[in-house]
Amino acid sequence: MPELPEVETVRRTLNQLVAGKTVEGVTITLPRILQRPAEPEQFADMLVGQTLQTIERRGKFLRFIFDGLVMVSHLRMEGRYGVYEKGDPVELHTHVIFHFDDGTELRYKDVRQFGTMHLFEPGDELLMPPLNKLGIEPLDDSFTLKSFMKILSHRTTKIKPLLLNQEYVVGLGNIYVDESLFTAGIHPEQTADSLKRSDWKRLYDAVRATLTRAVETGGSSIKSYVDGQGEMGMFQDELLVYGRKNEPCSRCGQSIEKTVVGGRGTHICTKCQPLRKPKASSLRS
Ligand SMILES: [Zn+2]
Repeated sequence: MPELPEVETVRRTLNQLVAGKTVEGVTITLPRILQRPAEPEQFADMLVGQTLQTIERRGKFLRFIFDGLVMVSHLRMEGRYGVYEKGDPVELHTHVIFHFDDGTELRYKDVRQFGTMHLFEPGDELLMPPLNKLGIEPLDDSFTLKSFMKILSHRTTKIKPLLLNQEYVVGLGNIYVDESLFTAGIHPEQTADSLKRSDWKRLYDAVRATLTRAVETGGSSIKSYVDGQGEMGMFQDELLVYGRKNEPCSRCGQSIEKTVVGGRGTHICTKCQPLRKPKASSLRS
């Protein structure tokens, strides 16, 4: 599933290709992608005549800002957008085609068919599902060590599931959580309230640095991810633990292990990320 760096890369590449274009028609061959309105004719009617101003991102969602509407789109497992000329052969698994008045088309392809599209009046999209409960953006200025600790440090649950929870911090998925925890030297099962301020500082720095570098390199192309121009990302070559089971740790040489934490496959170096016992004070009965 694309995470923040991949969605951000799609946003940037796509924005260059389609911003300023006006929708002339919409072809929908898989109505289940449409969530709001769910009726294909109504969905298409609302978009016809709309000019795309820009594309923004909120968490792992794309926000297509038209002059009088906002389309919220989630790629889920394998959704991808591409820009084509009218008449280009339509590839298998293309479910929605936005026809622009200059003869180009934005096509949405999704082998797994889990992606979603919602239409809203501008501004309403932030007040209703799926965007209304999203947490803080980790690359925004509002994400500070202080805000990070305020949201998470009192919680008694394991740090990995907390980082994956989009209601606290958005955009992090399995890849970047494993990478950030390794970089910070924190065990994924350490409870949030057992982390010291110095741990939070390392984790904060690791989240920012990992996501920033991944955005710079166009995200990680694992499975089918490509950007809005069909290009692969490069960050998969820089991953330190994710997908590196049984390979030597880049820091200490010990084998990277793969376990399960909170139901998710988890890559860890147990030497660099030791699980610390809770402080004696918290064991008092
Ligand atoms: Zn190590």
